[in-house]
Amino acid sequence: MRSLRETVELILMSLLALMNLQDNVTIAIESGSSQIHNYNDRPWLSGTPTTLPLLSKTPVSHDTDIYNFGLRPAEDEDNQTNELTLGIDVCSCLLVSSPQNRTLVRPYTPVSSRHQRGSFSLLVKKYPDGAMGREFLNLKSGDSMVFWQIPFNKKIQYPFQHPKTILMLAAGTGITPMYQALNRMFGVEEDEYDNKSDEDTENEDILKNTTTRVILLYASRSKKDIYLKKEMENMKKRYPNRLEIVYMLSDDNDKKSSNNGDGDGDENDGKVSCLVAKSPSSITVKGQIDKTMIEEALVSNDIHVDDNEMKKDSIQAWVCGPPSFYTDICGPRDDPQNVLGMLKELGFTPNQVIKF
Ligand SMILES: Cc1cc2nc3c(=O)[nH]c(=O)nc-3n(C[C@H](O)[C@H](O)[C@H](O)COP(=O)(O)OP(=O)(O)OC[C@H]3O[C@@H](n4cnc5c(N)ncnc54)[C@H](O)[C@@H]3O)c2cc1C
Repeated sequence: MRSLRETVELILMSLLALMNLQDNVTIAIESGSSQIHNYNDRPWLSGTPTTLPLLSKTPVSHDTDIYNFGLRPAEDEDNQTNELTLGIDVCSCLLVSSPQNRTLVRPYTPVSSRHQRGSFSLLVKKYPDGAMGREFLNLKSGDSMVFWQIPFNKKIQYPFQHPKTILMLAAGTGITPMYQALNRMFGVEEDEYDNKSDEDTENEDILKNTTTRVILLYASRSKKDIYLKKEMENMKKRYPNRLEIVYMLSDDNDKKSSNNGDGDGDENDGKVSCLVAKSPSSITVKGQIDKTMIEEALVSNDIHVDDNEMKKDSIQAWVCGPPSFYTDICGPRDDPQNVLGMLKELGFTPNQVIKF
């Protein structure tokens, strides 16, 4: 169920998009991240497609690059180092298209901190055969892409008060929406920001979300295909009791299972159950995410699919990955009201499943 605030925001955003008033309206809304956003400064937030320039492109793994985009239109060359931050809510992604092909649209979730000024970063997988993959591969510094958001791109909003436990199920670059939420909950910059901010301290635990636990099951082909690992390992070190990470590797060449997150530690029987709960470090398991694996991860955190814990909505499952991943885990992404696949079999209801 959406909260009242989320519903009001959604209606407001939809109305603005429908009325096409974005260019001349300045509206301040209080977002889940307690920032005031100005739609004239950040037209992408109100649904206005906005052309922004690529500042740099940096390889970060064998098949991904970080693309850093400026927050001022390309023609505003002198003003690219500005004070503006991207301003999108957590959790939400951006729609992207190329100026040359506006009918081709794909969602991407920024991986930069929401406090980054003047630019934001996308982690993009190289798909030489993918329609948008080709567009990104051809980009050079100074070229532009078009960005905007629609209400469907805004999912559950920080501080995620509802669930006591969030079970994140991600595959490949589907980690980026999860990473955005993890960064908001466990990131260094956020702690620094929260310490300095004079937000209402009466309800501090809820406002800053100091209670929710996260179990992340992250499916990759092999060790080299695990994205943002170093950053997530840092979060795990800072919050060992609130964050469990299980890397699932499907490639036969990565035979070992280990308990140190590096794939070089002690071997085990590959069972999640004996390792997940309160583990001081992340673990790596050979295999694919399946129903048994999900159940084991839950049970080891004292959550039993047939008890009240599930029925009380105290757990949510968040899902992101390629289309086949949605099909197997929870049913198609574009059908958010229906839960199918493994999560249905485990008794999850639509209220408890968020398809990113
Ligand atoms: C909420 C959300 C956030 C996302 N964030 C990111 C991100 O930060 N970085 C990023 O690189 N990608 C991200 N994606 C995936 C991205 O939107 C594209 O789907 C992906 O880049 C492939 O697009 P394409 O046009 O190159 O491939 P297409 O031409 O659409 O398809 C080419 C082939 O790739 C397969 N494919 C389609 N989508 C995916 C996918 N998501 N993963 C793997 N294979 C796929 C298709 O089945 C097809 O076989 C996100 C997806 C969602 C739903």
